[in-house]
Amino acid sequence: MWLQMVTYRLFARHPAPALHPFTLESVAEDTGIAFKSGFVAIVGRPNAGKSTLVNSLVGRKVAIVSPRPQTTRNRIQGILNRDDAQIVLVDTPGIHKAGDILSRQMMGETEHALEDVDIVSLIVDATAEFGGGDRFSAKWLRKFHGPVFLLLNKVDRVRKALLLPMIDRWRREFEFAEIFPVSALTGEGCAGLVEVWIARLPESPPHFPQDQFTDQPERFLVAELVREQALRATTEEVPHAVAVFIDRFEQKKDLIKIMATIYVEREGQKGILIGKGGEAIKKIGTLARKEIETMLDSHVLLELMVKVQPNWRSNRAIVRKLDWHRQLELMSPREEDEPDEPQVFDDEEPEGSTS
Ligand code: GDP
Ligand code: MG
Repeated sequence: MWLQMVTYRLFARHPAPALHPFTLESVAEDTGIAFKSGFVAIVGRPNAGKSTLVNSLVGRKVAIVSPRPQTTRNRIQGILNRDDAQIVLVDTPGIHKAGDILSRQMMGETEHALEDVDIVSLIVDATAEFGGGDRFSAKWLRKFHGPVFLLLNKVDRVRKALLLPMIDRWRREFEFAEIFPVSALTGEGCAGLVEVWIARLPESPPHFPQDQFTDQPERFLVAELVREQALRATTEEVPHAVAVFIDRFEQKKDLIKIMATIYVEREGQKGILIGKGGEAIKKIGTLARKEIETMLDSHVLLELMVKVQPNWRSNRAIVRKLDWHRQLELMSPREEDEPDEPQVFDDEEPEGSTS
């Protein structure tokens, strides 16, 4: 049902008109207050707190978060709904110099996010020193010609006296429309920020139904929740090697049955994810299932498999499968006659399983 609501605008670069414009116009007439709506892209270096900010403003988890850089791989829209406004927040992969095919696709997603948005907000980690990566971000931002906000994040961990010199340093790099110290974690400074965003957004009916909080299909969100727990369960080198695909998603009478495969690049990584006697994969499955049940508001049976696919980050077909915007286009009726993507995975037997 929710998936259906989502699909009506999947293929349009511009958002489709709102579903109930009449209701909203009459509300606007009654109160004399114009409804504001628009798109705000959240960009920044890996780990700056982009996904944390989007989740906290939306009030639900739409993007997974981890202390490791480059957790977000796609651009994701999180929707903040109020009686007088709707802000579509576009979460993005971190700004970085791209290397392999996966990382080039991630930077492509971030650049896409600059198209057709009303405001760009650069979020920076105020606990970190200004460095080469920041200079790269400032230069990269010149691609956008609208208002750019600077958000100095993590102020819960910064001495206030350090903020002014930091603002001066950033001002030398870029002419920002507005600058806000915030904490995505505690919410400090966020209410004021939202008001100023809204002040700068155009008068417009909402772009999405007002009970919708993300543009992501359920399947993708489920895969992300599994990936989040896999990242939490592992250390250093494993995270970037993890990809999760949903093999089955079936609505049964009183539960949803989901089968997912976690792909890694090496046998050693598979061993880490499965753990001694399957302990690690069992824990990943249990924690992910709880999150998925909260999100879907249903009992869930989750089965996980772990498979090795060497060097998948440089495999174009696999990386494309991770791009859900593209995957949905492939699933659309217009392309029904197209041949399937080539099968790129070997057919191993399930190794770890949990529910
Ligand atoms: P992203 O890569 O920019 O999307 O960053 P994430 O949202 O995944 O956050 C990266 C890390 O920074 C996570 O461990 C967050 O919990 C942490 N973090 C994000 N915002 C704040 C903040 O305002 N204060 C503190 N102390 N930590 C934060
Ligand atoms: Mg992120």
